[in-house]
Amino acid sequence: MPLDPYRLPRAVLPHHYAVVLEPELDAATFTGTVDITVNAVDTVDEVVLNAIELTISTVYVDGVESTFSTDTDTERLFIAASLTPGSHTISIAFTGVLNDKLRGFYRSTYKDDDGTEHVIACSQMQATDCRRAFPCFDEPDFKAEFGITLVVDDGLMAVSNGPEIRREATGGGRIAVTFEDTMAMSTYLVAVIVGRLEATEPVDVAGTPLRVVHVPGKAHLTQFALDVGASALGWFQEYYGIAYPGKKVDMVALPDFAAGAMENLGCITYRESLLLVDPETSTQLEQGIVADVVSHELAHMWFGDLVTMRWWNGIWLNEAFATFMEIMAVDQFRPEWERWTAFSLERTAALEVDSLASTRTVEFEVRAPSECEGMFDVLTYQKGGALLRMLQQYIGAERFRQGVNHYLRTHSYGNTETSDLWDGIESVTTADGGNEPVRELMDSWIWQAGYPLVSATLVGADLHLRQERFTFDEVSNDATLFVVPVAVRVGDTLHHILLDKAEATLTLDAAAASAADAAGTPIVINAGGQGFFRVAYDDVLRARLNAAALVRLNTVERYNLVDDASAAFVAGRLSANALLAFLEGFSGERELAVWQAVIGSLGRLSRLLEGAARVPFQARVAALVEAALADLGWTPAADEDPLRAQLRGLLITSFAVLGNDADAQSRCRAILDGDHSATDPELVAAATTVVAATGGQPEFDRFVAAFKSAPTPQEQLRNLYALAEFDDADLIRQAAEFAFSGDVRTQNAPFLLGRCIANRAHGNVAWKIVRTRWEEANETFPNPSIVRMIDPVKTLNTPEALADVQGFFAEHPIKQAVTTLAQVLERQRVNTDLRSREADGFAKSLLDG
Ligand SMILES: [Zn+2]
Repeated sequence: MPLDPYRLPRAVLPHHYAVVLEPELDAATFTGTVDITVNAVDTVDEVVLNAIELTISTVYVDGVESTFSTDTDTERLFIAASLTPGSHTISIAFTGVLNDKLRGFYRSTYKDDDGTEHVIACSQMQATDCRRAFPCFDEPDFKAEFGITLVVDDGLMAVSNGPEIRREATGGGRIAVTFEDTMAMSTYLVAVIVGRLEATEPVDVAGTPLRVVHVPGKAHLTQFALDVGASALGWFQEYYGIAYPGKKVDMVALPDFAAGAMENLGCITYRESLLLVDPETSTQLEQGIVADVVSHELAHMWFGDLVTMRWWNGIWLNEAFATFMEIMAVDQFRPEWERWTAFSLERTAALEVDSLASTRTVEFEVRAPSECEGMFDVLTYQKGGALLRMLQQYIGAERFRQGVNHYLRTHSYGNTETSDLWDGIESVTTADGGNEPVRELMDSWIWQAGYPLVSATLVGADLHLRQERFTFDEVSNDATLFVVPVAVRVGDTLHHILLDKAEATLTLDAAAASAADAAGTPIVINAGGQGFFRVAYDDVLRARLNAAALVRLNTVERYNLVDDASAAFVAGRLSANALLAFLEGFSGERELAVWQAVIGSLGRLSRLLEGAARVPFQARVAALVEAALADLGWTPAADEDPLRAQLRGLLITSFAVLGNDADAQSRCRAILDGDHSATDPELVAAATTVVAATGGQPEFDRFVAAFKSAPTPQEQLRNLYALAEFDDADLIRQAAEFAFSGDVRTQNAPFLLGRCIANRAHGNVAWKIVRTRWEEANETFPNPSIVRMIDPVKTLNTPEALADVQGFFAEHPIKQAVTTLAQVLERQRVNTDLRSREADGFAKSLLDG
């Protein structure tokens, strides 16, 4: 029988790995040995495991030297050995290279205060790169214990998954540092880090020591991560009802990191900007990202590390669940951030992609591990997280928690399929007689692409609900039906209905439904706003959502009204004029999330306009924003609500840039020119954006200098990304070229380029540079970031740009992100259609006043 190229045979199962790795930092090489204790469940004459980019020198099986061969295509090592059922030991010696591709065992660098460069050897194993560090059975269901030893120069720090248990001098100034065996876990969770690093004192979290590891000189940026880490770690133990499964937690900030962070058991790795932060000089958003990511990774210690997907098709649930739990944990840590309200924007990002014909089902069959690379996207994290939130709201928070708890207890140290979670939750809803169809409901959302538009019609006391798939394409005719839990609120009374057919009717209390009582009694579909669908109200219901009724809606419900209107505009169900008039009804709004939806929609409208029509548009934006900004004032009150401070920043930026207000622009310049060390970071960040968006070469040079000397990762990125805001073709060209200079780390360069392409007026200039330097970008930048870099081409909405971009990618596919690229290209077509349909009429009506 020929071997499956992606799945190893199951006749030999690893039980324990004793790994010794000895990196030579300056030479960027390493040597290693691994002793794998395996259990043969059958008689075999060959052992097959994974290895790639390693030079294997010797292989012994039970102490006897064996012949072996390797295959580069399948990334395999074949060992000739006659094994009888039972325990055996495979010992392999090898050498390798610390690569610069930020995968496997790789090289990161930093310069100290004297300008001397130091090398860190570090690892990123997910999905299938552990085989680049040492030969192993590199599939998630081959769980085993790992006993790791790192041989390092005396004076360097060595960190791995387990706590250090032994150090021995090996001669030549080298020390062998041995770590305690891990629990049984998957290879993709192994971590090894060696370098000139420092660690904070451990914080004790219910017996688990928690530290932050960082390059020297950054200890003063660690307290926030320790605070959120301690809060989340403690809270997860309560929520899951299971003790933390490791022995310690190190959170390691690495100068070069391809992804955001990685949930290696006990040794979580991060980009510096996602772990090290100064609360005094950072915005709520900048702190919030750190809180999110720290919580997300700690959530994985149970969901992902203790209980793990059997194969890579399950990666979506792993990530969706950690996303859901991250919000839960941050909501505990900082209730005043209203994290579930802020999640609305993330849900929108998922709905936007899911409105395309080229969207995908959340779960899909994965044969080659590389097929799961396309799963690390908005449909996994944000849609998946939103679906879990919808399920939790439907069955109730405590029953949901009990179901998760049941699932984790049943499958601890094991591997699962997605349906095991639904079964775990259903065991709770069955036991208490609620009998909600959890599996049926989730299957309808996981295995079908897209989401529904729920249309509501009120006839007498009958509220008719009808579902159809929502797409940006007007011709839908899609028969897909979802099992939709719809919450309906009439005044203060909540109703629940499971819309599992095309239509359903809810008979309301006649008095509440009557027109006489209509004033001030809103009827809200998707009450609470946590459902993953859009709503279309008929004229009767829409008329009831007047100004008096709006104040009785919660923030997410009002956010959804704006967001649904904005989507209706893209889909051709609402004109640009009508959308602008609708947005102007929100001048009395004072909640951040709603304003974010309003401003986002205004930005969308602004991309339809060029030349003279921009002036009346700017005036109308300024008029809409001005009252709210005047109400908040430019000066923060002491101990102000953080969302209010963030709203001020948003309104200032919008007033000054979208509204083109000269006075606001000069106030922003004054803020940045003065000593702003004690100024509210929200104001400083807003002023940075405004000065960039309205500045010239001197300001550009100033931000480059500020980027190079920034004292924190957040200020560094803020100044770097400001370069993409300039309203000048030559400066955008300079910014895009700067991304290719050695001054910008390869982990950040693609994101600077993406922001340049997103520039409202000059994105095309940046796109041309990316297009010209395409091969260089692909060779230099981490693989997963390539499609993120070009994502904003969807905003290039002229027919010429459309032809150029679509033609280019027809010749240059992105093979690691085929589906995502198709979505970007489809969205560009949608946006170009939108512009050709709406731009002239919109401009004319603006100019006619
Ligand atoms: Zn994750």
